[in-house]
Amino acid sequence: TQHFEVLIIGAGPIGLACGIEAQKAGKSYVIIDKGTLVNSLYNYPVFMTFFSTSERLEIGGVPFVSISPKPNRNEALEYYRRVTEKFQLNVRLFEEVLSCRKEDDIFQIDTSKGVYTANYVIIATGFYDVPNLMNIPGEDLPKVIHYYKDPHYYAFSKVLVVGANNSSVDVALETFRKGAEVTMVIRGNDMGPNVKYWVRPDIKNRIKEGSIKAYFESNLKEIKEQTVIISTPDGEVEIENDFVAAMTGYQPNFKLLEKLGVTLDENQTPIHHTETMETNLSGLYLAGVVCGGMDTHKWFIENSRIHAEQIMKDIVAKAS
Ligand code: FAD
Repeated sequence: TQHFEVLIIGAGPIGLACGIEAQKAGKSYVIIDKGTLVNSLYNYPVFMTFFSTSERLEIGGVPFVSISPKPNRNEALEYYRRVTEKFQLNVRLFEEVLSCRKEDDIFQIDTSKGVYTANYVIIATGFYDVPNLMNIPGEDLPKVIHYYKDPHYYAFSKVLVVGANNSSVDVALETFRKGAEVTMVIRGNDMGPNVKYWVRPDIKNRIKEGSIKAYFESNLKEIKEQTVIISTPDGEVEIENDFVAAMTGYQPNFKLLEKLGVTLDENQTPIHHTETMETNLSGLYLAGVVCGGMDTHKWFIENSRIHAEQIMKDIVAKAS
């Protein structure tokens, strides 16, 4: 068993920010991630551009230099890797945290590789590991994806994109530009309100000119091997289809949160103190986008990196 004063679950931008603050406070700490460094960002689409400008993605006071106003995924990977190197953060990768319980004021943490004890545990697990399901027949077919990487794969295929937020719009435009025949199924009568402002006119004009087909106020009803059935205001439509990109959003891993000892409220929001970020369990904290529960549009890097300082302030106060 290895002991650290602070154990941080998740090496995303906010988990790393927590590590930096722990280091500054002179606490022994470890950051454990089940995947690679900034695993969520690594799994974003290869050509993704952030909606945030680079200075808003900075942690530990290290400048994020990018020649374009909005950095892309590759630049962000470079940045967080360099920050990790600069601070020589104590990161353990490809090690999954499985459970955590508090006994006699000490946390016992089991991972896929070992056993730890810690005085404080920070959960910074994000929301990118569990996709929102549509719960329709055929959703489990191999042609259905919830994570999109690269447009080339879909060239000259018939792609159906579900949803109207940033991920959906990016998939629709990218695959269309690499020769896919794209149809969108959109629940409401417009694109989502958070669609990147410089992308919105592009998608609207492609739909208007008919190069991307869109069914508004419609739902995907069933996915078959070679077709999909869409329920539209004018009745059901069955169209030929090769791939379904179900960009229906993601949610925090609620089962894991409960297993770690966090209580969820009636809206499935993990209970926490907004000043200290401490959960219902003393010494157990939430950091980053995980704390929004189902409301995954509330928190992002620029407004949640502050959690690292809030938490460490509380830990230092408790320890003194
Ligand atoms: P994450 O980066 O998700 O990190 C969580 C980490 O925890 C992951 O590395 C994961 O592997 C690890 N983990 C999970 N469970 C375990 C476990 N049991 N054991 C060990 N490790 C575990 N935000 C912005 O501010 N600006 C943007 O432009 C922006 N664009 C986005 C684009 C997309 C496509 C998506 C999906 C999100 C975007 N976001 C953006 C929001 C995004 O979630 C955050 O930017 C950022 O990833 C949140 O950081 P985090 O550290 O809280 O969580």
